[in-house]
Amino acid sequence: MDYVVRAIDEKAGILAFCGRTTNLVEKARLIHDTLPTASAAFGRLLTASALMGLMLKGEKDTVTLRVDGGGSAGIIVAHADSKGNVKGFIGNPGANIPLNQKGKLDVAGIVGSTGTLTVVKDLGLKEPYVGQVPLVSGEIAEDLTYYFDKSEQIPSSVALGVLVDTDGSIKASGGFIIQLLPRAEEKAVASIEEQLKSTKPVTQLIEDKLSPEDILKNLLKDFEITFTAKHVLNYHCSCSKEKIERILLSLGKNEVDDILRSQGTVELICNYCRKSYRFEKEDIDKIFSV
Ligand SMILES: [Zn+2]
Repeated sequence: MDYVVRAIDEKAGILAFCGRTTNLVEKARLIHDTLPTASAAFGRLLTASALMGLMLKGEKDTVTLRVDGGGSAGIIVAHADSKGNVKGFIGNPGANIPLNQKGKLDVAGIVGSTGTLTVVKDLGLKEPYVGQVPLVSGEIAEDLTYYFDKSEQIPSSVALGVLVDTDGSIKASGGFIIQLLPRAEEKAVASIEEQLKSTKPVTQLIEDKLSPEDILKNLLKDFEITFTAKHVLNYHCSCSKEKIERILLSLGKNEVDDILRSQGTVELICNYCRKSYRFEKEDIDKIFSV
């Protein structure tokens, strides 16, 4: 079972999030048919959104991460709500290139590094919160670290990892975010930095069967952390025939009739779950007769 946890040391001013996303990313791989490098890039962003879903306060709040780096992966989007529902899509699921010089899946190589990372938080206000930063590496974790620093002014350490098996399936996936609240002391910062340096890669910790709680307890062993939330994660899309009909209505009758004339039928495939919605001429007439 995949889940994310939130922990805090009130006194030291440390906030931490950690999650295992192996099944979630595997499900995403099966839905979108991603090849290894694309699986890693997509999985990292899905993991980041799952962790950031735990930062949301309102029941209906959502967070969307969008990476547009100009590389062969195309645009990658991940979306999470505050209850552990996560979904996303990647422009080119077939993006796959040889391992990088470190022998790792070359995420930056397919993401590109000339674009932006955009974070959209729908907090139920009139306008959503939108933060955007240029990509610093295309590896996603570093880009998110930069986002937290520049856009939210919260010093953070972000680790995201996806380990792909030889058959292309997801062997281990997960990540953590550690944030310093304004009252955090210099001493705490140094201790965390030291601990991060000696910690194994997050995928290895997950593969070693460490729970998200154990990972945080080890990382923050000099602190007294309390776990304040836990969310089970699900790859879940809430699309429906009614929502798709509304999209058709917003396109307008002329446009939809054009598609009908050239294709004989109107088919829309959900970006997030790849579910296909087909409409014949009778269906279209009915939708627009209301
Ligand atoms: Zn869907």
